Amino acid sequence: MSELSRREFAKLVGAAGIASSFPQQPQTSRRTIGIQVGAVSFVDEGVEPVLDRFQRDAGINALFVASFTYGRGIAGRQVPGQPLPDHGKQEYDPEFHGGNFARTHEQYYARTSLKKIQGSDHPGFDVLASVLPQARSRGMKVFCWYEDVFRRDLEGIDRLQEVTLSGKKASTLCFHNPEVQAFWQALTEDYVRSYAIDGVMWGSERQGPFGNALGAMHGGARSNPLEVTCFCDFCKREAKSRGIEAQRAIDGYTKLASLVLESRAEKRPADGYFVSYWRLLLKYPEILAWEKLWTEGQQSTYANIYQLAKSIRRDVGVGWHIWHNNSFSPFYRAEQDYAEFRKYSDFLKVVIYNNCGGTRLASYANSMSRTILGDFSADEVLGLTYKVQDYQGANLAELGRKGLSADYVARETRRAVIGVAPHPDESAPASGTLGTPKIWPGIDIDIPTGQDEKKTEPQDVRDAVRAALGAGAEGVILSRKYSEMRLANLRAAGEALRG
Ligand SMILES: [Zn+2]
Repeated sequence: MSELSRREFAKLVGAAGIASSFPQQPQTSRRTIGIQVGAVSFVDEGVEPVLDRFQRDAGINALFVASFTYGRGIAGRQVPGQPLPDHGKQEYDPEFHGGNFARTHEQYYARTSLKKIQGSDHPGFDVLASVLPQARSRGMKVFCWYEDVFRRDLEGIDRLQEVTLSGKKASTLCFHNPEVQAFWQALTEDYVRSYAIDGVMWGSERQGPFGNALGAMHGGARSNPLEVTCFCDFCKREAKSRGIEAQRAIDGYTKLASLVLESRAEKRPADGYFVSYWRLLLKYPEILAWEKLWTEGQQSTYANIYQLAKSIRRDVGVGWHIWHNNSFSPFYRAEQDYAEFRKYSDFLKVVIYNNCGGTRLASYANSMSRTILGDFSADEVLGLTYKVQDYQGANLAELGRKGLSADYVARETRRAVIGVAPHPDESAPASGTLGTPKIWPGIDIDIPTGQDEKKTEPQDVRDAVRAALGAGAEGVILSRKYSEMRLANLRAAGEALRG
């Protein structure tokens, strides 16, 4: 479970001859114009009509098929309360269940008790088997797009769940639990061996206990600092091997939870909020040590998926969906080191959703002005965030209504492109060369926002696509899912690509 070191990686690369594979394809290869799409759209509208539209309206050449998730965000129809799209079934799907939308081949799941994952939303419909032949005949690539979202009522999942600070089972799975690593490897192996896919993209929109305790994300004001994760026996064992005392971490996080709850109740300490949080971190360095422990568990999952997929088929593309919180929280951004991703990535889908970004950033600023940045108003936290994260936007009162700009898309794209590029002083490993992951920004098309908040218009899509490509991206991924996109906005992506 240890993180793949650079040296080990170089050996792996050398042994498998990966150096000549996916990341080093000639630059003459076409741009990747991807779209995220769930099984529900192919069932509702038919495979051929959907692919026809993708090619005709937006020049799509890569499908990111939502193949596994228990979240409706990427695999359901529309979210209740949002305007219905102008295609597909004009209704919601309140019964959405989720799971594996391809066929599950049980022989791969021997090392995990989580194996009953066959989705039941579209009985008898295997989304990969149904889409692959037609996609292939059109020269469209197919990527399995699977994410780290579960439900509590699955057989065998209790053995894999994280444990919270207060000792409860969480709905999330622990990366330091061998069965969790085995599960992701099983699913990856199932996809790569069972289907002639071009690649996989895995996403984990999660962070460690420190960021969660602070509420350092959009929606963070609802986070409960007593339920942060993970404090299971596997994590404690891993901590011990690193010389971290689990009880000290638990004591530190318990004190942190009290401070967060007092901050939200506006009980300002005599020395102010920031100094009090910083003092706690000095007294309990185990707080950050545990945060790092969690993050390295997530990173080991990336490395393990990469290694496994490449060991089966070296030309399979492997990449990651990077959570939107990367744009907001500097604490989370510091953990998403693009240079590190070079060790185990062919591509990165960096989420740069600008329209809903305003609403989400405002939510982040409001949350943070109630914890570690409690000495500042939410508007001041927003100003600080713009400076630290190096982009600009509207003030807090207007941010949700205006959204973020195409300039934000350009800046975040450029930062990623620079981040994955080889460092000028870098000496190449003897037995291989690290590839430079391609940057394919996630483009926001009709991602839900609240009433009176920014809705996507065709000009927004044209500007965002042009901004991403103009800033050096080698492609884009239209997001979150075709089923919630309005057709004029989808066509606008095609218009931007034509010139
Ligand atoms: Zn754990």
